[in-house]
Amino acid sequence: MGNDVTVEIKNLSMSYGEKRVLKGINLEIHQGEIIGYIGPNGAGKSTTIKIILGIVHGYQGEVKILGQDISKDSKEYKRRIGYVPEIADIYDSLTAREYLTFIGELYGLTFEKADVKAEKLMELLGIKDSYNSRISSFSKGMKQKVLIISSLLHNPDILFLDEPLSGLDANSVMVVKEILFHLSKQGKTIFYSSHIMDVVEKISNRIILLNNGEVVADGSFNELKENIKEGTLEQIFNQLTGFNQYETIAEEFVSVVEEV
Ligand code: ADP
Ligand code: MG
Repeated sequence: MGNDVTVEIKNLSMSYGEKRVLKGINLEIHQGEIIGYIGPNGAGKSTTIKIILGIVHGYQGEVKILGQDISKDSKEYKRRIGYVPEIADIYDSLTAREYLTFIGELYGLTFEKADVKAEKLMELLGIKDSYNSRISSFSKGMKQKVLIISSLLHNPDILFLDEPLSGLDANSVMVVKEILFHLSKQGKTIFYSSHIMDVVEKISNRIILLNNGEVVADGSFNELKENIKEGTLEQIFNQLTGFNQYETIAEEFVSVVEEV
């Protein structure tokens, strides 16, 4: 393996009770890649990320981050990772300032450093006025911005984003997309999980499609297009996940809506 491999996954399987949700995943992810990790609801995207982050245990197979086996070695690698969770257990009763300085300190920053940095980043995302307000008063998009900031305060080398754009308005989506480009140019690895195809299509330089716990496609958007001969990522997605009844479903749905 080349030494620019930042995440290495071998034969990763996971079951919840009887249910196998990951069925032998193999991935080698390189420094500077923006990975779009896509797949239908329930495919196993969040589970993969939570295993890599050490939040979910009991998997089979091997996961190495920056050369360290996450089940064996020290947890030092966690300092080099940032994470935006899908469902945020953000501490609503704290102010953004309290929350962000707390997270910053967890990652080894001084209070002062975290405080200055967090406030600047909030300013750049247009929510500085709420720095001292309780997170419980924030809109979904504002909370999402706080989460994105908290994942980046310690300048991680690898960033895991699980549906990071949920709740953001169109302008903010553009800013975050651009931030991700710049981070990857700085050599950071970005692992981006989403079911929103058009964004993934635009920002990822490699797309990994997970269906039913298995990787069913892995390549650049152009490579996927050549293999599948379908236009958009959404169409490729539908074809590879065997989903072609959307018109029928929509028609039937509307006809039920019209029943009186
Ligand atoms: P995705 O993020 O791709 O939508 P998930 O990784 O969240 O998918 O879930 C994969 C499958 O595992 C789903 O069928 C989900 O219901 C199941 N699952 C996820 N977490 C748990 C859990 N803690 N206990 C039992 N089943 C789970
Ligand atoms: Mg998920």
